[in-house]
Amino acid sequence: MHRLYLLKKVQKLLLATNNPGKFRELKEILPKKIKYFKPKDFRLREPIENGKTFKSNAKIKSLYAAKRTGLVCISDDSGLEVDALSKKPGIYSARWAGPTKNFDIAIKKVFNLLNKKKKLNSKARFICAISIAFPDGKSFEFQGKVEGYISFPARGKKGFGYDPIFIPKGEKKTFAQIGKLKKNKISHRYDAFVKIKKYFKFS
Ligand code: IMP
Repeated sequence: MHRLYLLKKVQKLLLATNNPGKFRELKEILPKKIKYFKPKDFRLREPIENGKTFKSNAKIKSLYAAKRTGLVCISDDSGLEVDALSKKPGIYSARWAGPTKNFDIAIKKVFNLLNKKKKLNSKARFICAISIAFPDGKSFEFQGKVEGYISFPARGKKGFGYDPIFIPKGEKKTFAQIGKLKKNKISHRYDAFVKIKKYFKFS
């Protein structure tokens, strides 16, 4: 029933994120014919993200928004796992940037910790969990990833968050250098989206 609903009827979707980088990338990879809304359009607050996994945090955000707006809502919980830091910052990726969401601070933190361990080029991956929630309380979660490694100094201006220090496997440039066309074909967000597309059978 939810599959059919999404396939045939959905004309409006709320993208439950206040992160402009995520909002833009989600919109770029989702179907064009749908009208997309932001939490601000409904004066929605952010729910407390107290899940232990990317999927559970994504679910908290999408269900919160769906229950309050009566719309089908999509949320994204994502982050960077650095192997030499025991997969940190992980679900705390946004929190490492502090209350001002300053990613220079978060990137410096990654640098200092890796520098101490002499592992500045640690293997790493971006993870993205996307949750689709319906107003009836049902939700579906999908997880994608992109493998790569950390590289200093930070390079590139095109992305957001940790993009300037992440080089995807097989590439020489950071996510912030390669630009959206390529990033949107190989990213963790796109990988999760491919799974959604397959599940809901939409094009
Ligand atoms: P949250 O999902 O709101 O907890 O935030 C996840 C954080 O992970 C973001 O604020 C970014 O810093 C980081 N992140 C997630 N996806 C990306 C990406 O595609 N590029 C760079 N940083 C990302």
